[in-house]
Amino acid sequence: MQPSADSLHLGNYAGALVQWIDMQKNHDAVYCVVDLHAITVPQDPKQLAANTRRTAAQYIASGIDPEVSTLFVQSHVPAHSELAWILNTLTGFGEASRMTQFKDKSQKQGSDNATVGLFTYPILQAADILLYDSAVVPVGEDQRQHIELTRDIAERFNQRFGKTLSVPEVRILEAAAKIYDLQSPGAKMSKSGDSPAGIIWLMDEPSVIAKKVKSAVTDTDSEIRFDSEGKPGVSNLLTLLSLATEQSVESWQDQLAGGGYGALKTQTADALVALLEPIRVRTHELLSDVAELDRILGAGAAKASVIAEATLARVHDAVGFIKPLR
Ligand code: AMP
Repeated sequence: MQPSADSLHLGNYAGALVQWIDMQKNHDAVYCVVDLHAITVPQDPKQLAANTRRTAAQYIASGIDPEVSTLFVQSHVPAHSELAWILNTLTGFGEASRMTQFKDKSQKQGSDNATVGLFTYPILQAADILLYDSAVVPVGEDQRQHIELTRDIAERFNQRFGKTLSVPEVRILEAAAKIYDLQSPGAKMSKSGDSPAGIIWLMDEPSVIAKKVKSAVTDTDSEIRFDSEGKPGVSNLLTLLSLATEQSVESWQDQLAGGGYGALKTQTADALVALLEPIRVRTHELLSDVAELDRILGAGAAKASVIAEATLARVHDAVGFIKPLR
């Protein structure tokens, strides 16, 4: 996740973090805070530093265990930038131009303000993945195209230089692949959403969460039914309620039948507060000891570097770079 805001939002949590926490139990998991990606749009330096620690603290507070997973900050492992350069030279200009996230983001900023870094962002992401011989990449639906590009680049590399890189699979949790904005349930919940009331931040106070859920856009009838096309707002609330309570959407539909949207909103607000409040409190605790947080991230970077450097050495060898005399 990019440290481009002072809090992660519920879409990041549901689409990505929930899977990450689960997968660390039976995978050698590698997670990072992608500060190199964040600077593809302008960032205030002090804010970027603060947001990098805040993002890492939210990973840990949500359940990423740095003793079990490898957790680090992307810029601490220079191999990411180095491999990205090599992969840039294997990616077609047209291929990169087809990335819908670039098209959306550059349209928002105007083509004169969009940087080359924003354009090559998915190639850096390919490096993030391929450096660790990743077998599975757990993401939200919006990242599917980038993971497909990563696979194409890895296959191309292997074809041209011999089998060097592992080709990863994407893993998307269907139930939470896309969390929608509470005010515009046709759009995904996103840092750059139009209405502040449409986004729930992990660091929101309980009263703020309750207010946002209670003012969520629904529809004019009062039937509580999951129907993402016909009833996007209600369906989004049911998804969130199901996620926060670990009970199925169907069981909530039954329990709330005839109760009206007021009941759905109250249940959802209560469940989200119960889920997020401990994360918020724990994040603040972690941030109160910056030295310890930095120690954890330093240890993670050391672990990550060992894997990343080995892959980069294989890549250098494959493309024909000679080794420096030491
Ligand atoms: P970002 O920092 O925006 O690049 O997103 C980090 C992770 O959160 C990626 O795996 C995204 O797929 C996921 N994500 C972001 N927004 C949403 C959303 N609204 N619903 C589900 N997953 C999301």
